[in-house]
Amino acid sequence: MIVGAGFGGLWAVKHLKGAPADITLVDQRNHHLFQPLLYQAATASLAPSEIAWPIRSMLHGRKDVTTLMAAVVGVDIAARAVRLADGTAIAYDTLILATGARHGYFGHDEWEKLAPGLKTIEDATAIRGTILTAFEQAERETDPKRQQALLSFAIVGGGPTGVELAGTIADLAHDTLPRDFRAIDTHRTRVVLIEAGPKILNGYPDDLSDYARHALEKLGVEVCLGAPVTQIEPGAVTFGERRVEAETIVWAAGVRASPAAEWLGTTADRSGRILVEPDLTVPGHPEIFAIGDTVAVKAPDGSPVPGIAPAAKQEGTYVADAIRRRLAGRPAAPAFHYHHQGSLAQIGKRKAVIDFGWIRLRGAIAWWLWGIAHIYFLVGVRSRLSVALNWLWVYTRNQRGARLITRAGGESAIE
Ligand SMILES: Cc1cc2nc3c(=O)[nH]c(=O)nc-3n(C[C@H](O)[C@H](O)[C@H](O)COP(=O)(O)OP(=O)(O)OC[C@H]3O[C@@H](n4cnc5c(N)ncnc54)[C@H](O)[C@@H]3O)c2cc1C
Repeated sequence: MIVGAGFGGLWAVKHLKGAPADITLVDQRNHHLFQPLLYQAATASLAPSEIAWPIRSMLHGRKDVTTLMAAVVGVDIAARAVRLADGTAIAYDTLILATGARHGYFGHDEWEKLAPGLKTIEDATAIRGTILTAFEQAERETDPKRQQALLSFAIVGGGPTGVELAGTIADLAHDTLPRDFRAIDTHRTRVVLIEAGPKILNGYPDDLSDYARHALEKLGVEVCLGAPVTQIEPGAVTFGERRVEAETIVWAAGVRASPAAEWLGTTADRSGRILVEPDLTVPGHPEIFAIGDTVAVKAPDGSPVPGIAPAAKQEGTYVADAIRRRLAGRPAAPAFHYHHQGSLAQIGKRKAVIDFGWIRLRGAIAWWLWGIAHIYFLVGVRSRLSVALNWLWVYTRNQRGARLITRAGGESAIE
């Protein structure tokens, strides 16, 4: 049984093809989501259906896989069964937990409502609605102070998601929206990126993170470094000595692992990630593997394996191989060995930074490579063509086709 059809779980399924195993894949959603482009759905550049695909149809050719949509709420280790939210249970021989992570608010869960994070399609469409609604309300606002607050966007966290969101909101305001509004000048939009550490894109070499900061500042983004957020209230965020009034605040700072460690009653790190063995099994339970964002594992140099898609894919592939070996009665594989293939981040619609380790790229060339890599990793020809065409439109005509404000329940976004 595999729980979670994200990058880790899906790659395990993929690499178990042809193994003498009956696979049950359980996910609480009916779709696999390409999270690296989620910020583009949140900023109206891409439609949700371009970055998510029904799991069932992705695996329709795999007769060895049963796909179930259900939320797992626990694991009964003694009975070897996962417990589902509807009160039923499903038995397993071997279990792979690949349930990912959510946002973490460093003990300030009350901030979640005021500064939502980006993790699911629902998060992306809600943030898209909030951003677009702010412009709509600003168009009708007569009080200049309140109008400026509506045209102000604060992004908390200067990692790749924060950088990509900040750059794309700036592009949206400066390139896409100006001709569509009459009362407001969307060039007055203020985008503030707040990072507690001394640089953005922590983990990238200093020259690339400096380049990213300057590129963002050229797009009009205010980059504020070195002060953690200490308070978030409706319409305002405080960090260090500063308080910025912004009607829209987005959280891109911390992550918290899924509760898989609690289900198993096993040791976890401060972010709730399971401390797995070097072969990615749960301590004391060789029949349970855990992979992806829900685990903490070390790279060969002792550094933590980053919570990124290639790591989850490599772990899924490794675990599939380990299971194949067991089924064939072959000796166990050596410990999991993570290979870092590179780090990529887009800055606005024409620039990116890439660190392959052996070569560093920046600017337009990096953007083209970033675009090609992301199109390559999408699922299916239709999505690839559609995303490529959309980006061409954004690049050449500044148009973003997914500028829809939608609300659950269908009520109007404007009170
Ligand atoms: C906004 C954003 C941008 C990112 N950008 C990049 C990037 O540019 N490059 C990069 O490499 N990585 C990026 N990442 C990180 C990358 O997406 C993750 O590292 C990767 O998705 C982890 O894979 P996973 O399989 O562990 O978890 P996920 O892909 O999150 O999949 C977990 C799955 O488990 C399911 N699940 C969770 N709980 C339950 C439950 N209780 N019951 C049933 N199912 C459950 C979920 O529905 C989900 O389908 C980004 C992440 C985010 C959120």
